[in-house]
Amino acid sequence: MQLWSLELWRLSWLAGVLSLAGLVFGAPGVGLAAGLGVYLAFHLRQLHALHRWLAQSRQSEPPEASGIWGDIFDRLHNHQKAQAKTQQRLRNTIQRIKDSSEAMSDSVVMLDRRGDLEWWNSAAESMLGLRTRQDRGQHITNLIRDPLFVEYFDKRDYREPLTLNSPINDRRMLQCQLTLYGDDERLLMVRDITRLHRLEQMRRDFVANVSHELRTPLTVLNGYLETYADHVELMPPRLARSLGQMQDQTTRMQNLVDDLLMLSRLEIDQPSAHNEPVSLPPMLDDILRDTESLSAGRHQVRVEIESSQSLRGDPKELRSAISNLAFNAVRYSGEGCHIVLRWRDHPAGAALEIEDDGEGIDPVHIPRLTERFYRVDKGRSTATGGTGLGLAIVKHVLLRHDARLEISSYPEKGAVFRCVFPSKRLIKDDGLST
Ligand code: ADP
Repeated sequence: MQLWSLELWRLSWLAGVLSLAGLVFGAPGVGLAAGLGVYLAFHLRQLHALHRWLAQSRQSEPPEASGIWGDIFDRLHNHQKAQAKTQQRLRNTIQRIKDSSEAMSDSVVMLDRRGDLEWWNSAAESMLGLRTRQDRGQHITNLIRDPLFVEYFDKRDYREPLTLNSPINDRRMLQCQLTLYGDDERLLMVRDITRLHRLEQMRRDFVANVSHELRTPLTVLNGYLETYADHVELMPPRLARSLGQMQDQTTRMQNLVDDLLMLSRLEIDQPSAHNEPVSLPPMLDDILRDTESLSAGRHQVRVEIESSQSLRGDPKELRSAISNLAFNAVRYSGEGCHIVLRWRDHPAGAALEIEDDGEGIDPVHIPRLTERFYRVDKGRSTATGGTGLGLAIVKHVLLRHDARLEISSYPEKGAVFRCVFPSKRLIKDDGLST
């Protein structure tokens, strides 16, 4: 307000003094015009100084000025200094983020909303073969062309990471994780998991080899035990009892080895090696007969076919998974219980359900049931001849068929094990045989 008064005072003074001077010469109008002209010239000069200063380096000191112009220059200068400080602080932060990303052994690649490369750290150059100059602005799928990655990128469902071979070195395994952020931009994080992958492979090979090596001695032992059992009447009763127990235990070990081998094969083999049409009704009828024979008349078992769709998959694997579920229903439900093997349509495609009204399972156990050797009641499971690997096998078979296992159960209310197959695994019209 004070500055404005000063400015008004300056204008009035100039206009007044020059009008008076004009009056002395008999032309006050000319005097007033001259006063306004001088005032305008003064402002034009300051405006010119401001323009020159802004056009020059922003860091230079502002021109000397008094009154309102001095205040404008000071305010602009302070604003510029504050902005320069903020910019420097942001530059330092960005540099620190860049430095820490550079120090990371994992690759970090920033992609814009189209999927074009914006920025990446040096680990990405050695892992993915990105080159600083040529590749900026290129689409990521031009550089990582693996169809698995292209599908992963387009799917936009990045909850799970993707494992693939490095595009520049087949022997290196990479784990890629995409994340959506900001305005539909994506961040690609890549980790070298070659060592982990090798260890995992060694573990699988070890389990497969041990199980395989155990098979022969077990077969020999079982053979001898069977021969002795044929002459059990010649043995003292105590020895005969131990022989029975030895036979039970070797059979258990054989089942365990068979299940371990089956699991190893499911893990090692390429998925979808077999992709045959499988018609469920005849398969379920076969499993019904095996289930009835295991039950020995203690349960009422039936098949319900409510869908005419067929499956695409491996008949042996599917039969093994469904049998595991059906045999569990026999083992964990008491005499007189009902067991249903049901094939029906489902919003996601089709579902195979194994339902029983037996002892059921407490929901707290359900999330862990498919872990290897997880048992609700260890004593009960061993007594029923379970290996603890049945549901792990079911889970692996379903994974290889793009299906999922849903379990719903309550204690004393029975259990439903539902295998949900997606539409892409189904053939609409039935009439095919396994
Ligand atoms: P196991 O060889 O012990 O049966 P599984 O992996 O097949 O191993 O099953 C894991 C556990 O799940 C079993 O120990 C049992 O407690 C429970 N379970 C499986 N099926 C049923 C069922 N139909 N009813 C009740 N409990 C079940």
